[in-house]
Amino acid sequence: MRIIMLGAPGAGKGTQAKKIAARYGIPHISTGDIFRANIKNGTELGKKAKTYMDQGLLVPDELTCDLVVDRIQQPDAEKGYVLDGFPRTIPQAECLTEALEKLGSKIDYAIDVDVPDSNIVNRMSGRRACVKCGATYHIVYAAPKQEGICDACGEKLILRDDDKPETVQKRLDVYHSQTQPLIDYYTKQGVLKSVDGTKDLDEVFAQITQILGA
Ligand code: ADP
Ligand code: ADP
Ligand code: ZN
Repeated sequence: MRIIMLGAPGAGKGTQAKKIAARYGIPHISTGDIFRANIKNGTELGKKAKTYMDQGLLVPDELTCDLVVDRIQQPDAEKGYVLDGFPRTIPQAECLTEALEKLGSKIDYAIDVDVPDSNIVNRMSGRRACVKCGATYHIVYAAPKQEGICDACGEKLILRDDDKPETVQKRLDVYHSQTQPLIDYYTKQGVLKSVDGTKDLDEVFAQITQILGA
């Protein structure tokens, strides 16, 4: 099963992608996580990506597409994958479609997690992330067992720099201008499914499993 998660920053794509990955036994591939790992490890890619991410801007398509096309051809992705945060622009979607055509494969579902902008700032300011293992929490809606500490690995949780309100507004603008057009793109491909992302975590997941088939 090859799945794309669409939706605004903070809509819950990552949260749901992890649940899908666990339920269906496919890898969760997050471009944001890949970039953050590169930043942490001080790679060339990380240095380039950081300058864009800090400003709430998208990393250029040419730094993004090859990386994903390479990743989805790894052995663990043979049976499928859930892409989270990619594609984010029409050129990225076209690059993916072309690469999949060459591989004789295609996307089965593009799931749009729909959340209005008015909910997003609240979601983002309460998000806490673990830079060590990638786990995500929310101080109210998905709190860790011990405040400020990752349940999974014990690391200290952080508020991502780009989750501060001034950057969130920029990211929302970028989402509307560059990413939202993908809803049309995947509607035309006949694979778009929408879920109401304002519901609680488990209800959103129930909507998704209904689409994918349990
Ligand atoms: P969120 O889950 O809140 O939407 P992500 O972790 O997906 O955030 O992305 C964080 C940042 O990483 C983005 O604001 C952008 O700068 C960069 N990024 C992630 N994926 C892509 C992509 N496919 N194309 C360009 N930039 C990306
Ligand atoms: P995205 O990957 O789309 O940027 P996340 O999955 O990281 O979004 O979710 C953003 C924040 O909102 C996190 O703090 C997460 O715990 C919280 N969250 C996710 N889904 C829900 C939901 N359905 N209800 C309330 N909070 C949620
Ligand atoms: Zn952790």
